[in-house]
Amino acid sequence: MPDYDTKTHDVLVIGAGGAGLRAAIAAAAEGVSVGLVCKSLLGKAHTVMAEGGVAASLANVDDRDNWRVHFSDTMRGGQYLNNWRMAELHAKEAPDRVRELEAWGALFDRTPDGRILQRNFGGHKYPRLAHVGDRTGLEMIRTLQDHGIHQGIDVHMEYTILTLLKDGDRIAGALAYDRERGRFRLFHSKAVVLATGGIGRAYKITSNSWEYTGDGQALAYEAGAALQDMEFVQFHPTGMVWPPSVRGILVTEGVRGEGGVLKNSQGRRFMFDDVPENYRAQTATDPEEGWRYTQGDKSAKRPPELLTRDHVARAIVREVREGRGSPHGGVFLDIAWIKEKIPNAEEHIKKKLPSMYHQFKTLADIDITKEPMEIGPTTHYVMGGIRVDGDSQMSNVPGLFAAGECAAGLHGANRLGGNSLSDLLVFGKRAGEYAARFARSNGDTRIDINQATAAEKRALAPFDRKDGEGPYQIQQALQNVMQENVGIVRREAEMEKALTEIDALDARAAKVSVTGNREYNPGWHTALDLKNLLTVARAIAITAIERKESRGGHFRDDYPNKDPEFGKVNLVIQRGPDGRMVLSRVPIPAMPAELAQVIKEMG
Ligand SMILES: Cc1cc2nc3c(=O)[nH]c(=O)nc-3n(C[C@H](O)[C@H](O)[C@H](O)COP(=O)(O)OP(=O)(O)OC[C@H]3O[C@@H](n4cnc5c(N)ncnc54)[C@H](O)[C@@H]3O)c2cc1C
Repeated sequence: MPDYDTKTHDVLVIGAGGAGLRAAIAAAAEGVSVGLVCKSLLGKAHTVMAEGGVAASLANVDDRDNWRVHFSDTMRGGQYLNNWRMAELHAKEAPDRVRELEAWGALFDRTPDGRILQRNFGGHKYPRLAHVGDRTGLEMIRTLQDHGIHQGIDVHMEYTILTLLKDGDRIAGALAYDRERGRFRLFHSKAVVLATGGIGRAYKITSNSWEYTGDGQALAYEAGAALQDMEFVQFHPTGMVWPPSVRGILVTEGVRGEGGVLKNSQGRRFMFDDVPENYRAQTATDPEEGWRYTQGDKSAKRPPELLTRDHVARAIVREVREGRGSPHGGVFLDIAWIKEKIPNAEEHIKKKLPSMYHQFKTLADIDITKEPMEIGPTTHYVMGGIRVDGDSQMSNVPGLFAAGECAAGLHGANRLGGNSLSDLLVFGKRAGEYAARFARSNGDTRIDINQATAAEKRALAPFDRKDGEGPYQIQQALQNVMQENVGIVRREAEMEKALTEIDALDARAAKVSVTGNREYNPGWHTALDLKNLLTVARAIAITAIERKESRGGHFRDDYPNKDPEFGKVNLVIQRGPDGRMVLSRVPIPAMPAELAQVIKEMG
């Protein structure tokens, strides 16, 4: 029996993005011991990349805003598949979580009278995103880390969790390997919070960094937790398309919030051509009204560029497919045009969108204050994930909690921009608190060392296979399969083909081999990530085939309309006794009358 390097904590938090850090702070505040594990260095989590802002109805810029409007916007954006309890808690608690960040030292852009400034974003009725230029995630991570560092949290950097360990039905800890030396570490805990972020690396074109291989979703699934609504993947409308080396890198929605417009190769603002019925009453009737909206005119309605992301992404795909795209397969996003409207436009753009200015200047040699950007959709976010209880964030596995992007529920079929950073704060805190309480009120767990040794053996197997295939080809093949067959516009036959190919890739992955030794070996790490990528890819394909309608982030060419029957269910996947995925349609509970009334009133 190996003698593992073992660390014991009451609560183990896996992931050090906004959700993990907020959960760790909350658990530590409850007086339990907390361990925080992350795959990369502290400060490198995806949250640091968030640009546009954090959504909260502070009503600093428009006093008509309140939790009821935010709740209703979130539900409409999610096309009513959201966990309404989560949407309610999120809308009610987000303002306090933002003010708390401010009290912990976060800097925000300010209104002339010194309050936190808020900007417009797609699907939000009023300016709602608290922000610091276009570097809000950096400020959030910095603040949470600075605050967390004083709470007695033990941080384990560059440890990747390979498997969750169980004591009977209950979670008991996890086994990790250390990326630098390739050694194993065992974590023994009473509760685990998963906060591992997204799945973007399952696709070829993505705004996500190398870390986002769906680990939390796959770990939870393997441990018996249910995954929900995995078909809902968000393709952000604006990623860079040129040069090829930067394809997919995000161009923040803040550009459109500040007045940026989308045009096709004929110079037409095509977004005015197709405004969905349920947003018509809230959308500007002409460009002039749209411009006034972005400049804070309360009597104006938002421009169609600020419709929800699913809709804008599909409109761009349509322009490209019908031959009206830009030279490199996207369309044009123009913020430079605002010089027709305001003096000092160049300085204004640089001040409001400093990262975008820098990004295009250094990566594409484009000066966005003078010329339009070329953009196209990029895989950005997953609305689906680990199914959790709305109040506590506990999954169906006792002691296993999830928060942030790896959890499902809040966003339904489509997430509104800015609602992720607030999600991390609201539900990170809740997950940490409830995990701490769970740890306190349930006894210690027993580690079954055989589970750890079996996971270790599986992890080291690629070194023993001498003539297998390398992991990169398989990873790339999977990304192509998902991009081409389970992307923005989906069809049954293509998705069935994807499932067959995923089976074949699974078989290839089982025989993968790596060379070199265990010390910092990216090939080995990629081989280990493959299993997670394949699990989430399969879950996405299965649920996407099952949902025979178009809703939110899921668009079916063969079923282009919404089906009211699918509007009543979440699609849930669990591991069956034979190890295969078992899919079920789970009815969404009826909304309490007072919440239904809010939606009715907000129109
Ligand atoms: C470019 C970009 C801009 C964005 N802008 C905005 C915005 O303006 N507003 C907004 O609301 N949202 C935005 N988003 C989305 C938002 O940033 C993410 O959804 C959110 O930050 C996810 O946070 P998280 O805490 O769930 O996970 P992350 O911040 O993704 O952190 C995940 C953590 O889990 C760790 N981890 C993963 N797997 C393992 C493992 N196996 N073992 C150990 N650790 C592991 C990672 O190392 C990391 O520490 C943006 C996203 C991108 C990519």
